[in-house]
Amino acid sequence: MNNKQAEILEFDKNHVWHPYTSMSKPLPSYLVKSAQGVYIYLASGEKVIDGMSSWWSVLHGYNHPELNQALIKQSEKFSHVMFGGLTHEPAVELAKNLIAMTPGGLNKVFLSDSGSVSVEVALKMAIQYWHSKDKPEKHKILTVKNGYHGDTFAAMSVCDPVNGMHQLFETVLMKNLFAPAPKIGFEQVWQADDALALAAMFEQHHHEIAAFIIEPIVQGAGGMRIYHPNYLKTCRALCDQYHVLMIADEIATGLGRTGKLFACEWADISPDIICLGKTLTGGYMTLAATLCTDEIANSISNGEAGCFMHGPTFMGNPLACAVANASLNILKRNEWQQQVANIEAIFKQQLLPLKTHPRVHNVRVLGAIGVVEATENVDMAEIQKRFVELGVWIRPFGKLIYVMPPFVIDIEQLTLLLKAISTVLNEDSCFIQQ
Ligand SMILES: *Cc1c(COP(=O)(O)O)cnc(C)c1O
Repeated sequence: MNNKQAEILEFDKNHVWHPYTSMSKPLPSYLVKSAQGVYIYLASGEKVIDGMSSWWSVLHGYNHPELNQALIKQSEKFSHVMFGGLTHEPAVELAKNLIAMTPGGLNKVFLSDSGSVSVEVALKMAIQYWHSKDKPEKHKILTVKNGYHGDTFAAMSVCDPVNGMHQLFETVLMKNLFAPAPKIGFEQVWQADDALALAAMFEQHHHEIAAFIIEPIVQGAGGMRIYHPNYLKTCRALCDQYHVLMIADEIATGLGRTGKLFACEWADISPDIICLGKTLTGGYMTLAATLCTDEIANSISNGEAGCFMHGPTFMGNPLACAVANASLNILKRNEWQQQVANIEAIFKQQLLPLKTHPRVHNVRVLGAIGVVEATENVDMAEIQKRFVELGVWIRPFGKLIYVMPPFVIDIEQLTLLLKAISTVLNEDSCFIQQ
């Protein structure tokens, strides 16, 4: 590493916040020089295979010619204009694409900047909907434990109360309702009593509940848990029975990751509101969308306010919409299905056998998501260093070592990625011994 690079890292360490990282005792950051395909090239000389898809967002790999081209072409026309009173083709095209691709009935599209904001928008829509129906007492949100829906205040109020550190923000968070998390795994035998406690909460509280929010099939940052499709089916039925809007947070699962275009398809259901983010631009830039039914949009619009009370400055950013359309066009060629199926087959072949490893509590696989739950917490600094030495980029949290690589990863690269996991499992220094 040269002097300039060392200086960048030193300034970063002293002045730049990183996600969920101490400013006074920071873990090391690795300086990135470039990225191509599934590889991230570090300034220190290593190239690492990205097992994280930059937090679930990269689908077709880095530095993709079609995505680059979409961005360049749009920037030569205009990079941004306000969305109040103005509109443009990239946003309209994106709305068309999303209405066609998402589960049925979601015909109205609200574009925003990030996943958390799309959740804020969804919750606000639900509350404003019941207000417009003269039922303002329906203003609470029901969810399940172990969920993750973002870091802004309303989103935090539906994250797992323990992982989400609710105590810290208790005085300001909305008081919402939490049912136990689903327990029956995706491939286990379904037992209807898994949803009994949830059903009881619907029965007891439906008068005050505006919406039920859940991550379909895969609970991501709240524990990497993969649950049974019948649970999700039951959620839909309960929402119908008790007149509660269903919000599906597909920010992590949407656009192919689980082996279906949307995880809701595993249960053959359609939510009333869906949140999309992370994967929307194929990992290029921040963009999110909240889609809802005609009924919700029309009720809100015919209500007291006469419109939905939200409008981000960078709503419908043309650069982000253009690159999202290019990414969706690649998905429409349907190569993702075979790519995800191939990744899943290799996960099953190479990850599932780790179940018998003494340091492994459980292994879970669905689509292009592979999770190894260790028996001990990882030592972040050490395991990260070892992964880089082994030529991979994997960033575990707690006991969870998980991967969801870009769909374009090949067998050889995938084998190297998974080999790195089995290697570190044998290294005491990568774990915090109890
Ligand atoms: C990441 C994530 C969010 C938040 O998205 P941001 O873009 O980080 O604000 C919300 N819900 C789920 C399921 C996520 O995985």
